[in-house]
Amino acid sequence: MITLALSKGRIFDDSLPLLRAAGIEVRDDPERSRKLILATNRSDLRVVLVRASDVPTYVEHGGADLGVAGLDVLLEHAQASDAVGGIPLYRPLDLAIARCRMSVAVRADFDYARAVRQGSRIRVATKYTQLARRHFAAKGVHVDLIKLYGSMELAPLTGLADAIVDLVSSGSTLAANQLVEVERIMDISSRLVVNPAALKLKREPLRALIDAFEAAVEARR
Ligand code: ATP
Ligand code: MG
Repeated sequence: MITLALSKGRIFDDSLPLLRAAGIEVRDDPERSRKLILATNRSDLRVVLVRASDVPTYVEHGGADLGVAGLDVLLEHAQASDAVGGIPLYRPLDLAIARCRMSVAVRADFDYARAVRQGSRIRVATKYTQLARRHFAAKGVHVDLIKLYGSMELAPLTGLADAIVDLVSSGSTLAANQLVEVERIMDISSRLVVNPAALKLKREPLRALIDAFEAAVEARR
């Protein structure tokens, strides 16, 4: 049995066409069913639904053989697990789905360039504390990081923080909250990740699956 970890919402929705192109049909609709293990048209393949940020953990520890996760989640997880000697995940493929960017945003009336130039301490709220720490350290900017789990846009509006590090796609959420993007940190898309031990034990079926994903991604370019 091969277990594929996906998260509900964007990643599941954007993975479906790739799965379909690879000949895989998921039997249940996660928006309607409460099931966390979904059968597919292949008796040797099942999908498990986990939180987006839990996908690397499932794949790393073998709860799933492979999974789909955003580069944001993968890098943040890798930075955190480096510290505790985590196992590196095999990352064979950029699926080119769930594309967005990780950026710094501030209130329109906050002079970010000036704060950076003056070497002020900037208070930054984010879900991505590891990546934000690394980004600002590389620039030599002093930051106080505030860990949040959601609604990052609220932090500068309430005075909790001067800036946020968050994902941006169209920018309409930022605009709706009078925030402006002042720095692009990196481009993000979702990646296929594979447990290295599983790749050894189930080499042939996993290789075939990776190749099918690759062909599906290529066909959409
Ligand atoms: P949870 O709801 O469990 O806290 P989440 O909010 O990170 O997780 P999603 O919003 O589904 O879950 O995001 C999953 C992934 O999709 C992110 O890790 C990121 O790679 C990508 N993503 C997030 N926001 C956007 C966006 N606005 N446009 C495109 N891709 C995005
Ligand atoms: Mg979200």
